[in-house]
Amino acid sequence: MVSSPHLYEVWILFQLIHQLKKAQFTCENITGSMIAHFEKERTLSGWSGKFKSSKGAAGLYYEKEIDLENGRKVKPDFIFLFKNSNQNWDAHVLDAKYKPYTNINENVLQNDLEHSARRYLEIKHEKITVKSAALVHIDEKTNNWNVDANHLYKISQFPTLPGLTDHLATYMKRIFHHFNNWLSMCPKCGGDAECILGNYKVTYICDRCENVWVKNQCRGDFHPNSTTPRLLKYPSGNYNIQVGNQWNVYCPVCFRDVNGNRIRQNLYGHCL
Ligand SMILES: [Zn+2]
Ligand SMILES: [Zn+2]
Ligand SMILES: [Zn+2]
Repeated sequence: MVSSPHLYEVWILFQLIHQLKKAQFTCENITGSMIAHFEKERTLSGWSGKFKSSKGAAGLYYEKEIDLENGRKVKPDFIFLFKNSNQNWDAHVLDAKYKPYTNINENVLQNDLEHSARRYLEIKHEKITVKSAALVHIDEKTNNWNVDANHLYKISQFPTLPGLTDHLATYMKRIFHHFNNWLSMCPKCGGDAECILGNYKVTYICDRCENVWVKNQCRGDFHPNSTTPRLLKYPSGNYNIQVGNQWNVYCPVCFRDVNGNRIRQNLYGHCL
């Protein structure tokens, strides 16, 4: 029998494939490979797909079992792989949770972030580095892109439901722009952007859909002893906390806006 949590996972799998296609990744005979896998195994568990785009190769794995160095095994719901410039792979692990987090004890979210996210960051593999681990869930009242500021964006949680897929698009955007450094790739349509260099910022305008985004930096005097964090800003769907409705975000490291106002958020992503 198909339980709701399982159905939710499979729905997420299709959404992830949709997101890759939206970003102009192609995959040969994806439906055929899924049907073949299902007919053989009587489940989609263990299925994987290889994708290609002008930016490089990607892979998506559903419930792949991985051996850890300590002899244990883990099986995250989804693993994204992107080939990086060193010919190794960057991995992003995503676990689907069919849980109404804000209606249940906070410990549940805390434990899931530990057990189904942070733990995966420790997966060690010769050619693969895990760059981030996130929970995707059904509770639209909670979303935190940066649970642990000491490990920038590495641990996060966000909701995705039928009719609410914006956060999933933000999750992909964060992979493409922040982790993969594909800054001129349009996160909406996968097109190439024109870059306009300004004094203290770069503005990107997509040739195809006219989507706009901006890159600048936090203030140097807020980070006297380290490199100044890069800030990417979007009209909506920011993975840094937006300052009101402005084209401004709070820095994910010092949590200040350009005027020095600080913000704090809890595990649920609610501002304190
Ligand atoms: Zn699962
Ligand atoms: Zn575009
Ligand atoms: Zn800062």
